[in-house]
Amino acid sequence: MPPVDRRNPIRAASSESTCSLLEFAREFPDDESCLVWLWRERFAPDGEHAHCSRCDAERVFKRYETAQKRPCWFCRTCGFRIHPLKGTIFERSSTSLQLWFYAMYIMASTRCGISAKQLERELGVTYKTAWRMFNRIRNQLMVQDDSPLSGEVEADETYVGGKPRQSERNALYRQGIVAPRQSERNALYRQGIVAQRGRNYDKHVIVFGAVERRGRVVAKVIANSGGPLLRETVSTHVIPDSMLFTDDYHAYKTLDRKYRHRRIRHSAKIYVDGDVHTETIEGFFGLTKNGIRGVYHSVSRKWLQGYLNEYAWRYNRRDNPGSMFHALLGEAISRAV
Ligand SMILES: [Zn+2]
Repeated sequence: MPPVDRRNPIRAASSESTCSLLEFAREFPDDESCLVWLWRERFAPDGEHAHCSRCDAERVFKRYETAQKRPCWFCRTCGFRIHPLKGTIFERSSTSLQLWFYAMYIMASTRCGISAKQLERELGVTYKTAWRMFNRIRNQLMVQDDSPLSGEVEADETYVGGKPRQSERNALYRQGIVAPRQSERNALYRQGIVAQRGRNYDKHVIVFGAVERRGRVVAKVIANSGGPLLRETVSTHVIPDSMLFTDDYHAYKTLDRKYRHRRIRHSAKIYVDGDVHTETIEGFFGLTKNGIRGVYHSVSRKWLQGYLNEYAWRYNRRDNPGSMFHALLGEAISRAV
């Protein structure tokens, strides 16, 4: 056996392992190091020379050293100040930068997410603060990019949260809202008795998802699972002429006109037929739902999109080289206004 270098351990192949907790601590040991990192990444790669918009030239900048330790640098020539936090999600936050960075580190390095309660314990902040940080990271940094999918794309919809119990289903059925079983519901739909699958289930939220095979995913909360909205959502997120795979839910049927479209007959209990299946998007839904169930227990309609962002963000970077944490830091910079 070759001698093992304990200072340079052998890495697991996963991307998380490219930035371990110890490396995080080494790179960002305190607040100032986080600030300097932002300063260098956004304005001054060498930490000293930056473009001064007042001089309209490259100038030497110096850290603003006063008792208050304001987080800014000033131009040695004209005194113009640059604030590295300006326009980022960290601006005007009373939470320390290092805690922000650590929260991002945790969110980027767990597979299934982490609860605000856990973050509260790890960071020693209040629950409210932890929760706000998460929300801002999910909704401002992990935003799903809206460029449409192409190639081989699977689309599907799912329900998240409180599935109605059988008794509730029966009650809904008696009101003529929904049939108790999928196959019966479809039959009733064909007879024109039920208007739409799943309509008026107010306990759960409908999520539309589409995924490029071996590529990106989009996941959006939608208001209902009616045909018009579903088809419109597909059109928004999938480029025409793509190879589209869906199940045989009637709402997708007329998409044949716009896409090369193959449908797998879930109603006949067929789930895979050669390359016709929706297993990829269902895999993503499964991961997300399990995560929500296990980590967050339940999520209200209002916040669900944020969680979907978080899962989609990680999914879309699963094969990227480099750590997800640094990718997330990159978002903090590129999304600064
Ligand atoms: Zn200047």
